[in-house]
Amino acid sequence: MPQGREAHDYDLDALRERVMPERGGERSSSIPQLADADPDAFGIALALPDGTVRSSADGRRTFGIQSAVKPFLFALALADTDGAALDRVGIEPTGEAFDALKLESDTGRPPNPMVNAGAILTCALVDGDDPRERSARLLAGLSRFAGRELEVDHDVAHSEHLLGDRNHALAHLMRAEGALSVSADDAVAVYASACAVIVDVEILAVMGATLALGGVNPVSGERVVSAEVARDVVAVMATCGVYDGSGRWMRSVGVPAKSSVSGALVLSVPGTLGAAVMSPPLDDQGTSVRGRIASEILSADLGLHVFG
Ligand code: GLN
Repeated sequence: MPQGREAHDYDLDALRERVMPERGGERSSSIPQLADADPDAFGIALALPDGTVRSSADGRRTFGIQSAVKPFLFALALADTDGAALDRVGIEPTGEAFDALKLESDTGRPPNPMVNAGAILTCALVDGDDPRERSARLLAGLSRFAGRELEVDHDVAHSEHLLGDRNHALAHLMRAEGALSVSADDAVAVYASACAVIVDVEILAVMGATLALGGVNPVSGERVVSAEVARDVVAVMATCGVYDGSGRWMRSVGVPAKSSVSGALVLSVPGTLGAAVMSPPLDDQGTSVRGRIASEILSADLGLHVFG
């Protein structure tokens, strides 16, 4: 296992310089704020068990968390339902795009919590009588993962809600199948605001570390979720976190992770560390191109591959 000085001394700016010449990928065009993102923004951070958080240049540059929020939504839904969320959402990889209009054929459940359908559902499973209460509860839970008070970019949340036609379609499909008990519009509103939470790579690395380290935030020392919940979430990140690119990712990086349309990636190396990378241009599976290359190099240099 990697550990100690290697991760403490690792040169994150040198890694950044190595991947910056890579020009592949396209920014998401799903909302104006993502289409206008700086294609050359790039940050990478590590969060270690002793509470050390380190980052490259751009480590404090903020961005929308987008789908990198999904593991934490799943964790909070598992915690609030005492694990019963596992009856409401599948845990099998789909081999399809993150927003595919597809539910499990035999049960009508979303296929897993890392695709949009599953995340829309997990948002609806947390405690709260209305969308406002559920959004506030999620934001408080996400803030505990981060060890600081997080905020929502309300313009991004509004765009997500307004322009997320496939998400509305998925919510209606889940209503029709009896999988979703709150109204479709309420469910999408809460999901849209969760995707619009503002983070930077340092914050996201701490969130990833909290899952990697059995549910205890290494900076605040707070237990955020149980060790069992953290384990379940990291297992599903490993199999489903990079959508239809999960197999390739697991072979080449070998670290449970979650990708997102903002170009953010959160990595949770069980028992070892959390990491995050952000670079907006995406490949065909919606994974940051520079983020994937940087993750491959980081994993190889620090010996992070879980099957390594
Ligand atoms: N908010 C985005 C959406 O729902 C999240 C998708 C993603 O990051 N892959 O389309």
